[in-house]
Amino acid sequence: MEIDEAREVRTTCPYCGVGCGVLAKVAADGQVSVRGDPDHPANFGRLCSKGSALAETIDLDGRLLYPQVHGRRTGWDEALDLVASTFSRTIAEHGPDAVAFYVSGQLLTEDYYVANKLMKGFVGSANIDTNSRLCMASSVAGHRRAFGSDTVPGTYEDLELADLIVLVGSNLAWCHPVLYQRIAAAREKRPGMKVVLIDPRCTMTADIADMHLAIAPDGDVALFTGLLDWLGQHNALDRTYITAHTTGFGQALFAASKLDLAGVAAATGLDEDELARFYSLFAETAKTVTVYSQGVNQSSSGTDKVNAIINCHLATGRIGRPGAGPFSVTGQPNAMGGREVGGLANMLAAHMEIDNPAHRDRVERFWNAPAIAQRSGLKAVDMFEAVADGRIKALWIMATNPVDSMPDAGAVEAAIKACPFVVVSDVLESTDTVRHAHVRLPATAWGEKDGTVTNSERRISRQRAFLAAPGEARPDWWITAEVARRMGFAEAFAHETPAQIFAEHAALSGFENDGVRDFDIGAYGEIDAEAYERLTPFQWPTPSSSPEMETQAEHQPETVNSTERQPIRFFADGAFYTPDRKARFIPVQASAETRISPDFPLVLNTGRIRDHWHTMTRTGKSPRLSQHIAEPFVEIHPVDAQRHRIGDADIARVSSPRGEVLVRVLVTTRQRQGSLFAPMHWTDQFAARGRLDTLTASLTDPVSGQPALKYVAVRIEKFTARVFGFAVTRKRPATIAADYWAVARCRGGWRVEFALARDDVDWTAFATSLFGAVDAEVLAYHDRDAGQHRIAAFDGAQLVGALYVAPDPVAVSRGWAAQQLEEIHASQRQRFRIVAGRAGTEQPDAGATVCSCFNVGVNQITAAAAAGCITVDAIGVALKAGTNCGSCRSEIRAIIAASRVQAAE
Ligand code: SF4
Repeated sequence: MEIDEAREVRTTCPYCGVGCGVLAKVAADGQVSVRGDPDHPANFGRLCSKGSALAETIDLDGRLLYPQVHGRRTGWDEALDLVASTFSRTIAEHGPDAVAFYVSGQLLTEDYYVANKLMKGFVGSANIDTNSRLCMASSVAGHRRAFGSDTVPGTYEDLELADLIVLVGSNLAWCHPVLYQRIAAAREKRPGMKVVLIDPRCTMTADIADMHLAIAPDGDVALFTGLLDWLGQHNALDRTYITAHTTGFGQALFAASKLDLAGVAAATGLDEDELARFYSLFAETAKTVTVYSQGVNQSSSGTDKVNAIINCHLATGRIGRPGAGPFSVTGQPNAMGGREVGGLANMLAAHMEIDNPAHRDRVERFWNAPAIAQRSGLKAVDMFEAVADGRIKALWIMATNPVDSMPDAGAVEAAIKACPFVVVSDVLESTDTVRHAHVRLPATAWGEKDGTVTNSERRISRQRAFLAAPGEARPDWWITAEVARRMGFAEAFAHETPAQIFAEHAALSGFENDGVRDFDIGAYGEIDAEAYERLTPFQWPTPSSSPEMETQAEHQPETVNSTERQPIRFFADGAFYTPDRKARFIPVQASAETRISPDFPLVLNTGRIRDHWHTMTRTGKSPRLSQHIAEPFVEIHPVDAQRHRIGDADIARVSSPRGEVLVRVLVTTRQRQGSLFAPMHWTDQFAARGRLDTLTASLTDPVSGQPALKYVAVRIEKFTARVFGFAVTRKRPATIAADYWAVARCRGGWRVEFALARDDVDWTAFATSLFGAVDAEVLAYHDRDAGQHRIAAFDGAQLVGALYVAPDPVAVSRGWAAQQLEEIHASQRQRFRIVAGRAGTEQPDAGATVCSCFNVGVNQITAAAAAGCITVDAIGVALKAGTNCGSCRSEIRAIIAASRVQAAE
């Protein structure tokens, strides 16, 4: 496609489910810049740290640029023929269920649609599942049980209209930062608005919370059944609504009443007073939105948690109204689009059900499909078990990295390695999954691909290309359609543009619908290429009777103001998508199950950090994003740390029955006693033994099939390191001969952290290998008795690398050391300063990075706070910190608070 370099292109952020609008521009010299789209109704110009750094992630370093078969570069024809013939032969010999697709919430809706159509309509199997199974499948199941459809009723505007926001298992400040900022801004305007955070950890989101309930892991069902019982006992029910619009209330209330307040307190680890305060607040606040995400979904009782929450909203009639409703926010940029096309193994297409014969018949007729799948396929965990035991013999993985992100990742890797035929379509040549592929297919990346995504409030936005596809990379939809044609389905996969696919998807959503199915974008069923190009963000439903298309046609992207359209809420009329149009209460009860044991006595909660996304295939490229947290880590409460004889900055071995990881220790009272927290981002590409999902179990929710990634029984012990090291180096080290290591990008090269259990190391040889520079001029300091070694290597006035080794965690300022890679070191004095590992007095240590946008460290903020900057805005004026994306504002507030406490002591 032709790329217009002169203008900004309206596109959408490829990270989280907020779905922020982005304006991307390519300058004449090829430099790309991005900014938030002020007209996009999700973000109104805001971007978080990840979105702001998108331009740093689009280089071609590590890109897969050409098809490869068995590691050999080949042409598209050979690769596609091999994929098509192997899939066809496998189906012919072993049946359609012997093949599978494992796809991704990173795919655009058009990619997703084609893959789903091929598998469910033409292969004749439903063995297509998505990494969104790991993210929000419990919400889908909970919605379908309660509403009869997978409908997210509310809109982002409801978060600003609410008088009470209950955040359950949702660290919005780091995982959905722009929503967090919208809530924070609304709260500043309306100080009466209340926020309650329900989370085992005191996350950065607690910064805006009036109440933080540090709930026991998996205590949510007990908490919300307790709330339903409380509402019943305190005359806080909307009986008119219950009678008119729901069924099953009596059974749900009876189930909820099994646990009295003391029982709820025991099950949640909360005291009765704080429960009563929360329950009273909920009972008396009509405009309440309950927001939930992975902390609810990623559980063996995830679907019950969702229904326990929805029950409380139905019981109070707080749904479908401005500022009220249950609100599931998705992790991935197009998890919702995947749901719309039927990318889950137990769904069909356009929110139709695979187990419903009428739905199968409808889709079969629409697609003119020769082999519509007759039953649900294998959900993600079951799919990889089928790969492991040989039932699945040909597997195609698209745009995802299951070797790192699936539970029991070691077993998943072994399964993929043993699979007779593995195809991976990806943008990178070397991920932990791509390395096992027999066929590697180069896909276009963000900035190069064209299509649509749907965010958490059902808003469909365009992702547009502003860069030419590099090498021979092709869109995922094109790759899949080419394989489908070669499998003999040319007519049904004749699409030549994403616009044609979107039109077909939209037409299917409106086909024989007449308002009986929630997902209907039939208004776009005949959209042409020109209108698709102009498409502005819109919320569904938009049935064919909708004036939406006319509205779209009247506006050019540059002039449209999407904010003028009214947000659309479902269920305002009290009609649901069940046969009797009534919502269903689901009776749920808390389980007393515990999975900890004397051998594995701690509960590991896995999650995400502010500046990285999934397995770091994109954010790991950004120096800016890599400086906030540069190593895999585990958070532990001080009491647990003492019990296990572990100190801050030690290296710890965290083990489960399935594997172990080595991670840095962070001792913090933000963590609950008895629980650990560790992020899931680190892979073999960035750390020695940091793949967290080698610990997690393949235990799933029985209804949704979503893995219980938030509750893993583990033990922790100190890794006895004799040596700790830190290095900066211009080139990425080829190998690092250490028990523990982690690498992260910095502006001039790479940062390396490492530790070894032995200290009989030739440090000069170690440094030479690490820096990859044999001819460099070396300055060194060795104090063998103290175990201190410092080595710096120079190429003229440029630093090639610096290595610092000590028997304890190295105290050199990371930010300062990384900065030296970019500076000129002409004098011997300057060079010795690097060996000494100390900045001069004219260059004080900024401390660990807090604000990634302006590279402001904790020491600078603490100093500014001590000098009188006691608000986040004052820090912004003094240091600029927090004034761009705003993702660090909660951390700044916490640093100010800590420094004020320290000053008062
Ligand atoms: Fe992207 Fe951040 Fe917006 Fe999420 S909140 S869509 S990561 S800019």
